Amino acid sequence: TILKPELKDSIKERIKDHPCFCEKAHTKYSRMHLAVAPKCNIQCNYCNRKFDCVNESRPGVTSKVLTPEEAFERFKCVKSKINDLTVVGIAGPGDPLANIENTMKTFELIRNYSNNIRLCLSTNGLMLPYYIKDLVKLGVEHITITINTVDEKIGSKIYRFIKFNGKTYKGVEASEILYDRQLEGLRMAVSMGLIVKINTVLIPGINDANIPDISRMIKREGGFIHNIIPLINPADNSTYFAKEKVREPEAKEIEFARFQATLELGSISMVMKHCKQCRADAVGKLNEDYEI
Ligand code: SF4
Ligand code: SF4
Repeated sequence: TILKPELKDSIKERIKDHPCFCEKAHTKYSRMHLAVAPKCNIQCNYCNRKFDCVNESRPGVTSKVLTPEEAFERFKCVKSKINDLTVVGIAGPGDPLANIENTMKTFELIRNYSNNIRLCLSTNGLMLPYYIKDLVKLGVEHITITINTVDEKIGSKIYRFIKFNGKTYKGVEASEILYDRQLEGLRMAVSMGLIVKINTVLIPGINDANIPDISRMIKREGGFIHNIIPLINPADNSTYFAKEKVREPEAKEIEFARFQATLELGSISMVMKHCKQCRADAVGKLNEDYEI
């Protein structure tokens, strides 16, 4: 199990029914993703923007974008059919915080309807410092930030550009701004009592040597769990990395990266090994997704 005895009781209470933050929970409880966030404010080299945000999902899948009202209807329908639904998350198909009106409206509608559902969000982190207080006000308790490197030179190979405060940045400058914002968002989230998961897309030859540094940063900053997910190139090879022949990691490389992370994290934070890289409109238990 990844649940450790030294976890504070309050944290245990808040993760025990979250299928992603607690491995034990993933066969017992269901989550649903609501695809209300089509736009993105950065360009990752492993994403072609035709499919769902790769930071949290598998490429090759395009979720139908819903309005907040449609998403709320879908939530009510799923809740009436699935008794073990505990978590509603927004994870794409773009970045939830680049679609802040939709994201907030959706969470608001759900929160006003049901007080006991956990709200969860996955982001590249660029706008997290701006919006975290609003998210906390709505009762969001779990956040995932995708942090692929703590080194701006490596970051310049992962991100083509970012759009921030009306300007487009590229190269090392873009990567520096993004990492500063991710770190600030992580610190704010931890200080406000949120449980933070860090996703890292493992990209052979690009950021694999940086995994121990990322894990060390997570431990230092109080992140809860490190989720290392493999780069997956889309079948049509339409991403920059696929064109440049950046390969997907082998199973043993993923295992090694997770092993390195475990060594760095010690008993303070944990490594997630059961992520299914779900689509932005996934519903059900992690091991038995179904269509509704
Ligand atoms: Fe694509 Fe997600 Fe990266 Fe945006 S943050 S470019 S949607 S992978
Ligand atoms: Fe959980 Fe991973 Fe699926 Fe997100 S992508 S809902 S972290 S299993």
